[in-house]
Amino acid sequence: MQQIPNVHEAEPIPEAARAEIDALLQSGDLFRYTAPENAPVTLLEQEFAKLLGTKYALAVSSCSAALFLSLKALGLPRDARVLIPGFTFAAVPSAVVHADCIPVLCEVGENYRIDMADFEAKLAQGIQAVIISHMRGHTSDMDAILSLCEARDIPVVEDAAHSLGTTWHGRNIGTIGQVGCFSFQSYKMINAGEGGILVTDDADLVARAVIMSGAYEHNWKKHKGPEGQNDPELAEAFAKWQNQLPLYNLRMSNLSAVVIRPQIPELARRVTDGLANHDYVAAQLNAHPHFHVPAPLAPERRAPDSIQFNLVDLSDAQIQAFSNASAARGVKVQIFGRSTDNARAFWNWQFIGEVPELPQTRAMLMNACDVRLPVLLTRDELDVILSVLTGAMSYTLAKEAA
Ligand SMILES: *Cc1c(COP(=O)(O)O)cnc(C)c1O
Repeated sequence: MQQIPNVHEAEPIPEAARAEIDALLQSGDLFRYTAPENAPVTLLEQEFAKLLGTKYALAVSSCSAALFLSLKALGLPRDARVLIPGFTFAAVPSAVVHADCIPVLCEVGENYRIDMADFEAKLAQGIQAVIISHMRGHTSDMDAILSLCEARDIPVVEDAAHSLGTTWHGRNIGTIGQVGCFSFQSYKMINAGEGGILVTDDADLVARAVIMSGAYEHNWKKHKGPEGQNDPELAEAFAKWQNQLPLYNLRMSNLSAVVIRPQIPELARRVTDGLANHDYVAAQLNAHPHFHVPAPLAPERRAPDSIQFNLVDLSDAQIQAFSNASAARGVKVQIFGRSTDNARAFWNWQFIGEVPELPQTRAMLMNACDVRLPVLLTRDELDVILSVLTGAMSYTLAKEAA
């Protein structure tokens, strides 16, 4: 029997992290604000801002924390209505609730991207901020979104948790809205177990986020402008907000930063290999009449570490049979809407209060499959996964015919 590749295995952390970790263990210097300068978290922030081409970055404990701080830093009042896609991870409506705001859900199409007609209609319903979640790295029409939001003076937060390395018209995802948030949780492009970072060009916004992340007293002095230079605009913003904001303590530890930093030079390779793997599998699946991998939008260059595809013209019983047959052959296919308590199915977000019905998003979730494709997989391993999927489909169709 074919060896089924392990799609949950992580890539090893680069060897270069070891010396830095040892030095930290020796010094015990794990807190980002102990050293007078050049703490690993500070260096990470400078490197990450430079990588993405933004003025500022703030490293925090998770992408959820970054999303929460973004909403807080925007100064949204209690009960502000925040528009989010109906297809995302439960962390997104949770961050909205955490910030004392109200999540408003908009429809997502069968291509996993925001339905622009519904987005525009919902935007008129007293929306005060928008979180665009690039779910599984799929980019919605950022040109249309930005022009609608700018015309109404509505700030856009990008949830780019799973989009590091994706570009839109050649520009990094996460740098298009007022603020972009990324995750370093293990299933994302850079793995520190946990961690997050937000990027922005807005000095006032980042100053507020820095203080609220837990830069108590004058610790904000350790946050500088681009390349670690003094930045008068930033200093002025810190002075303005001193003692005015709560401290939520969502900081990143130096230990996380030393695990993240040596992975930054690996990113370009991970993006190239992940995209090549994805596109290879997508082309084979699209040759089959019962699988459909939606195409990216034209300005988008993806950075995938998983593949999503829709099942075409199958009954509920056939979908169940396909899912069972894939699992029996060793490849777990998650169908977002069909696994119990799935955190990406909006009807399970009962903590938001009354959950609205989104027929289009629901229809997509009932057919959309999710398979992890870690970037280290070889062509042979991809072929094994493909043969399981197509084999399970043939079995399903034959069973029905019999
Ligand atoms: C992983 C993920 C998050 C949450 O990130 P954490 O760092 O675990 O808080 C949010 N949104 C999306 C789209 C994600 O994939």
